[in-house]
Amino acid sequence: MKCKRCRDKGEVVLRHHNAAFCRPCFILFFQRQVQRTIEKHQMFTTAEEVLVAVSGGKDSLALWDVLLELGYRAAGVHLALGIGEYSRVSTAKTEAFAARRNLRLLTVVLEEEAAAVPTLAQFTNRPACAACGTAKRHHFDRVAYESGFPVLATGHNLDDEAARLMANVMRWQVHHLAKQHPVLQPVHTRFVRKVKPLFRISEYETAVYAFFRGIDYVIDECPNSVGATQLAYKDALNRLEAAMPGTKLTFVQEFLRAGQPAFAAEAEGPPQSCARCGMPAYASLCAYCRLVNEVERRREQAGRRLASGGH
Ligand code: AMP
Ligand code: ZN
Repeated sequence: MKCKRCRDKGEVVLRHHNAAFCRPCFILFFQRQVQRTIEKHQMFTTAEEVLVAVSGGKDSLALWDVLLELGYRAAGVHLALGIGEYSRVSTAKTEAFAARRNLRLLTVVLEEEAAAVPTLAQFTNRPACAACGTAKRHHFDRVAYESGFPVLATGHNLDDEAARLMANVMRWQVHHLAKQHPVLQPVHTRFVRKVKPLFRISEYETAVYAFFRGIDYVIDECPNSVGATQLAYKDALNRLEAAMPGTKLTFVQEFLRAGQPAFAAEAEGPPQSCARCGMPAYASLCAYCRLVNEVERRREQAGRRLASGGH
């Protein structure tokens, strides 16, 4: 297939757009798609400084790169999760990207805050991905608010959003469906706007973009995600996509147009403030402080057992 823009030899074929692109035209096409998504959904303007949550993976590094290329101001926030070698490599790749381009990067080391992900999960008997998600959301929101950013962007792509939508639909989680949107306006004074500029772009496209742009990213998946239910949904959606190109994009876009408004009435009321940290909470303590409280309790118990000679 020839490049749709310049008729040169096509290097990337996008079946869901029924098009092929050569390398320079693909980069341009990718950046324009992101620009259009940001503008159409009024995610942010060039007057605002965006805080990008950067994991060291291809999606968030590609997002940071494309925002800068499009002329937006963007700093990064990275969470060092403490998941062994995987986290060490993720932090190193993120720091190297920021250092090479002289970008502002705020790094939060979970171990220094309360506990690394393995301890958070083990001490609270929660699945690692659940504890990790709670910690990530808390620190993204907290750092964005405390550092005065008006908007936080994550690298969630079309595959992520389609899998999440499918999971929510399979269990008819109406409260979650009410909140599944690429732009979330703040509903508490300590929330900032949250956006997903890559939500219409497939994982394959961000991988190709990162490769073409020479971005050095973590290739390994998180060791905890092996067998995660999200992968089963991604797998099912990939099979549907192979049989019917465009399925994922239609699923997500039509949900936003036709489905999401019908669920909006199911949204929970506005959150209160956490009695411990002041961040938004749907109980007297926020989900993160409940986790940390449990860890502290378990540590105290373990300390007392040690002091009493292990009995
Ligand atoms: P995931 O939940 O791992 O699929 O990641 C979704 C998005 O969350 C990524 O594209 C990043 O924007 C953000 N993210 C995930 N892990 C981290 C991390 N350790 N530090 C900063 N941002 C992260
Ligand atoms: Zn709290």
